Amino acid sequence: TPPAQIRNFCIIAHIDHGKSTLADRMLQITGVVSDRDMRAQYLDRMDIERERGITIKSQAVRMPWQIGGETFALNMIDTPGHVDFTYEVSRSLAACEGAILLVDAAQGIEAQTLANLYLALENDLTIIPVLNKIDLPAAEPEKYAKELADLIGGRPEDVLRVSGKTGVGVEDLLDRLVQEIPAPVGDAEAPARAMIFDSVYDAYRGVVTYVRMVDGKLSPRERIQMMSTGANHELLEIGVSSPEPVPSKGLGVGEVGYLITGVKDVRQSKVGDTITNARKPAADALAGYTDPKPMVFSGIYPIDGSDYAELREALDKLKLSDASLQYEPETSVALGFGFRCGFLGLLHLEIITERLSREFGLDLITTAPSVIYQVVTSDTGETVTVTNPSEYPDGRIGSVSEPMVKTAILLPKDYVGTVMELCQSRRGTLLGMEYFSEERVELRYNMPLGEIVFDFFDQLKSKTQGYASLDYEPSGSQEADLVKVDILLQGEKVDAFSSIVHRDKAYAYGTMMAERLRKLIPRQQFEVPIQAAIGARIIARETIRAIRKDVLAKCYGGDITRKRKLLEKQKEGKKRMKMVGRVEVPQEAFIAALSGD
Ligand code: GDP
Ligand code: MG
Repeated sequence: TPPAQIRNFCIIAHIDHGKSTLADRMLQITGVVSDRDMRAQYLDRMDIERERGITIKSQAVRMPWQIGGETFALNMIDTPGHVDFTYEVSRSLAACEGAILLVDAAQGIEAQTLANLYLALENDLTIIPVLNKIDLPAAEPEKYAKELADLIGGRPEDVLRVSGKTGVGVEDLLDRLVQEIPAPVGDAEAPARAMIFDSVYDAYRGVVTYVRMVDGKLSPRERIQMMSTGANHELLEIGVSSPEPVPSKGLGVGEVGYLITGVKDVRQSKVGDTITNARKPAADALAGYTDPKPMVFSGIYPIDGSDYAELREALDKLKLSDASLQYEPETSVALGFGFRCGFLGLLHLEIITERLSREFGLDLITTAPSVIYQVVTSDTGETVTVTNPSEYPDGRIGSVSEPMVKTAILLPKDYVGTVMELCQSRRGTLLGMEYFSEERVELRYNMPLGEIVFDFFDQLKSKTQGYASLDYEPSGSQEADLVKVDILLQGEKVDAFSSIVHRDKAYAYGTMMAERLRKLIPRQQFEVPIQAAIGARIIARETIRAIRKDVLAKCYGGDITRKRKLLEKQKEGKKRMKMVGRVEVPQEAFIAALSGD
């Protein structure tokens, strides 16, 4: 297809505003998916995505659309909608010339609408404002068309109104994509430059790489080169998704498609990297490439220690499809053998643990998420990177800095007081406050990421009856007065419960954990003190009183079978006991203490 007949676009929207449904309708109306094959959220392939209604991985689909007898190729690039995947969103946007800014006509603009809009504007995309769900009785298209027009600086009457559900307005929208989005420009004679915006592992075909051609041409059988590493591969297959893969004779300027080289690991085909011809490489890679950096760390342990090897295999497999997942072996007194894993954010953590249990049938326990702390030691002055409280150089702390994020919270004005209180209790610094409309306010805070990973989103949702939305981006790091709180059972440290917290919150954390454990750990034949400590200083204490544990005392003499059954049961229970010093702790107690409530 010549560039003049290509339009590359994406849909940016807050979660649940109807991006997948609209995409479905477009596939149907352009005829690339027949009515018979249509199922809801055709593009959301992963089970978790479908169930949670979130899009984790972007994909591209090519749709034909005719205007005035001329056929255009519309390439729709589906972007992930969540803050954890901002880098992937930005690469998907960089592959487009235009974006549909989709807003629920009953909800208005939300935090992710804004975050994605800013990313789109940074990439110089033509924005087409669209209100969705106009079939809803609660829709207020007049009001929100104005809100949207004010935001992007247009006229309310230019805001398109559609329903992804009924299909109303979708044909007009397809026309406007062709009319308003610029055709791609590139140098057809130059060495090839293709930007990778997605890379998906497929068990049968190996890695499938999605690219946007910028310059030149790529053809089957030729050798290609990854510009970040210089690695060479043979191009086994190249084609377009429509939405099933259709091999082609090559891709030229402005085209969007997939390619297969037989590599088995997405790390060999990284999002953001530039592909060029190996024989005639381009001089410069396309801008914007960075390696994904984990922000949140957590220990993952099998509940049954004998599942350790299986857990390793499962992580190795997931890594093939997820370049941002990191892990290394770790051992814990309380939890045994497991892995320290790095994630892009909390949702990413949740997705991985859920996939481990769902796709691999593993029962797992995860420790409280931690962020990356930089500690400058007082004795040697070296900088130590700490992603696990157990690595904290106790007693040698010169200074500690923690990662910060700029958060934007959109909420109805009635909740401003409550949310400000919440943000302040999380050590937030107010950066600004802005009215978006009469009812809706944007609050901007600079906040430690460590405070956000600790239950912030749930708190925000519950304090605003679900009306607030949140987005954040890294904003460097900042020194803070942080300490490590250890939890001890009979004087023995329980490593899984150690936590790095602000000094002002150390006491609260210590008493909460001590109380929790007192309730969860059964009495032993001796008294067990539970203590919370900063270094050698005890800051909280609880005691589990002694008991003579004799289950057989409950049976009156004779009944042998009953006795045996009880003994068996006790033995079974023992198997899942962990010893902390002399103290027997049921595995469940650790799990319950870590999962909170
Ligand atoms: P996404 O998170 O942006 O991909 O949103 P989805 O497409 O998954 O839609 C979220 C919810 O809104 C689903 O329950 C859809 O059925 C519903 N929905 C999407 N579009 C429309 C629409 O035009 N009208 C109505 N009434 N509901 C819609
Ligand atoms: Mg979706």
